[in-house]
Amino acid sequence: MFEAHVQDIAQEAFTGSLPGDARVDALVVAAHERYRDHADGAVADYIPILSEADPAWFGITLAGVDGTLHSVGDTAVSFSIQSISKAFIFALACDARGHEFVHDRIGVNNTGLAFNSVVAIELNDGSPMNPMVNAGAIATTALLPGDSSDALWESVRGGLSRFAGRELDIDAEVYGSEAETNHRNRAIATLLQSYGRLDRDPLAAVDVYTRQCAIAVSAADLAVMGATLADGGVNPVTGERVVSAEAARDTLAVLAGCGMYERSGEWLFEIGIPAKSGVSGGIVAISPGKGALGTFSPPLDSAGTSIRGQRACAYLSRALGLNLFASAPVHGRTGAASTPKGS
Ligand code: GLU
Repeated sequence: MFEAHVQDIAQEAFTGSLPGDARVDALVVAAHERYRDHADGAVADYIPILSEADPAWFGITLAGVDGTLHSVGDTAVSFSIQSISKAFIFALACDARGHEFVHDRIGVNNTGLAFNSVVAIELNDGSPMNPMVNAGAIATTALLPGDSSDALWESVRGGLSRFAGRELDIDAEVYGSEAETNHRNRAIATLLQSYGRLDRDPLAAVDVYTRQCAIAVSAADLAVMGATLADGGVNPVTGERVVSAEAARDTLAVLAGCGMYERSGEWLFEIGIPAKSGVSGGIVAISPGKGALGTFSPPLDSAGTSIRGQRACAYLSRALGLNLFASAPVHGRTGAASTPKGS
């Protein structure tokens, strides 16, 4: 079960703006101090090289839609983006193909099953169901522009780089380690092909997807990438429009429903903002119109989400008023009712 560890923190209402910079800095530092000694969880090892990560690494960056970064801890440590890439690749696919197309071809509903489930595809007549599970992510990557594998890879790498505001590149060691062991993803892609759900060669699509997951980022990169989705598709640091406002909105909607694996409901209940996690220990959590959190800490829970990261997101969501569902009465907290018009 997901334990947020924040019941002692006052829940601020969602106001549409962050508090001042000094307050944000102080709360980001407080979140890091509060959880850095939490030692629960286990570092992923099903991709062999990920098991070499230092379990003590912990970094938090909040990027505001004004382009300001607030960082504490190991926010410059480089790690492979893994599943977090799925969010941004889906945004690029929405931008390239449009709302109806991605809805019909990929889907937007949670499977309720693990991110790499083969059974989920069988139970749903070959539909990949959503872009945040591996089946849907491989199918989404295959939708990006590019006649050859090299051109498709450049769509992926270039697109993710525009979100980050700097040229990103692959961690070749992570790619090699995953490419040698990704038999399940190859099976998933071949199964999708058998259902007529993949327009590219399945093994070529998996290869580009595997490179995509091996792109090296930092917690600070994740925050800027997320803040681009929070800012209607414009990177708040570079000022470049990366995707349309509609593509950013559609991506956040899918993240809310499917971003945190089969625990997406629990995440929304506890934290209340769209987010995506990855097995190397990163999380991006996005508060539309305000900004985004990028966190990094390798020890994971049983669903594959960083434990320190989710606790830091829970804390900062409450303390900074990021939760989309938290409101306060418009006439103040006294409980006084307004006088109906005309009475
Ligand atoms: N590359 C990983 C896989 O395909 C990503 C999984 C994740 O981060 O959840 O299994």
